Amino acid sequence: MRIGIIGSGVAGSLLAEGLLGASGQEVTVFERAAAGDHAEAGTGLNLGPNALKALRLHAPARHGAVRAVSLPWHRWRADLTDGTPLLDLDLMEVAEEPGLRIRWSELYRALRAPVSHLTRQGHAMEALEEDAAGRLVPVFRTPDGTLLRHGGFDLLVGADGRYSRLRALTDGEPVPEHLGLCIWRLLVSEATNCPFDDYGQWFQGSNRLLAFRVPGNAVYIAGTFQLGGEVPIPPEARTAAFQRALFTPRGAPPCPAVAWMLDRIAADIPGIHWARTQEAPMLRHAAGGRALFLGDAAQAMVPTLGQGATQAIEDGTIAASLLRTGEDAAAVAATVASWRDPRVDFARRISRAASDTILGADPVEGTRRKGREPFLGELRRLYTEVPGPEELGLPARTEAA
Ligand SMILES: Cc1cc2nc3c(=O)[nH]c(=O)nc-3n(C[C@H](O)[C@H](O)[C@H](O)COP(=O)(O)OP(=O)(O)OC[C@H]3O[C@@H](n4cnc5c(N)ncnc54)[C@H](O)[C@@H]3O)c2cc1C
Repeated sequence: MRIGIIGSGVAGSLLAEGLLGASGQEVTVFERAAAGDHAEAGTGLNLGPNALKALRLHAPARHGAVRAVSLPWHRWRADLTDGTPLLDLDLMEVAEEPGLRIRWSELYRALRAPVSHLTRQGHAMEALEEDAAGRLVPVFRTPDGTLLRHGGFDLLVGADGRYSRLRALTDGEPVPEHLGLCIWRLLVSEATNCPFDDYGQWFQGSNRLLAFRVPGNAVYIAGTFQLGGEVPIPPEARTAAFQRALFTPRGAPPCPAVAWMLDRIAADIPGIHWARTQEAPMLRHAAGGRALFLGDAAQAMVPTLGQGATQAIEDGTIAASLLRTGEDAAAVAATVASWRDPRVDFARRISRAASDTILGADPVEGTRRKGREPFLGELRRLYTEVPGPEELGLPARTEAA
């Protein structure tokens, strides 16, 4: 089977690696970014323990590689911005191993390295044709404007992120659901005096700061606040004064962590990456099973529990294990859907439910609730219910196979 993977991000790179050496399969990865271009990867992220479990069971070498360039995520702490404690959860109460904290650039580097020889960079998929045998033929634009074709593929995998071109071309543009939230991200590159380390959240009403250290003496900060409608983020919201007012407690000084972050935000307003939060309806395959979607291309979700890249990791690793069976494209697309859709649906529901506090629910009760059952039971399911090869009904596979 000839397989073309569009996008060497999280899901695409893991899928390609998982198919290395699979008999009867010829795999090529097409990536829009040029070699060495990690411009999109300027911040940090946390990966849930379920991402680590998927890597441990399906891609052990990658498990070691990402752990080597990250910090462990042991605790989930949440306070009010004046320092009033709300939650301090040891992840080992609900998981089999810690999650991790990493820079985007390091994650991409660790995932892309083993498949660089299969990857054609500077290939932005733009259009889609069909050959005489009914196979899909992607058309790419290179940085010099040239259009290129590399023949027909039995299966095209859309691993090209939340604005997937393959999805738009085979099923139309998904209609996003806007959550009425602005989310910004900042990587503070010099964090010597930072008074915190592991994952923390700080609430001022429904406005929330989220931050943690990442390797290289850096700190990742994300701010979230409500912004109704689908309007662009107004210029006045992008100022230090506006952001300081959002996250400053009333009638009390900010706790040391929040005071430190407010100063860093003021010092680096131009370095902030601004976005609106939106979800897209889930779609696993199209074009009669000749197009399969993984990661954000299939299931862009709210970032609340850090499950976007985490689910992309589950997708890439599990789809690779299933694809190695060598079934035809339509059969394998249906099999991937049967394993992944219920699981992703669950991850989306719990991520959405956990967004209550940034959507206006009482942050004190809403956060304390997350340290109790039944939420802990849901988190336990999220962090541990990752099927290994045996549960998928597949023979155990060594890394070299
Ligand atoms: C503010 C914010 C914070 C987040 N924080 C976290 C977090 O802490 N933890 C977490 O797990 N997730 C987080 N996420 C979600 C995470 O970013 C995504 O879910 C994840 O990157 C999806 O992986 P992917 O492989 O589907 O796509 P991506 O990693 O986006 O990769 C897509 C790849 O496709 C390439 N591409 C795109 N279009 C084309 C094309 N036309 N042709 C060829 N190549 C193309 C891109 O260059 C890229 O390499 C966050 C998201 C946001 C917006």
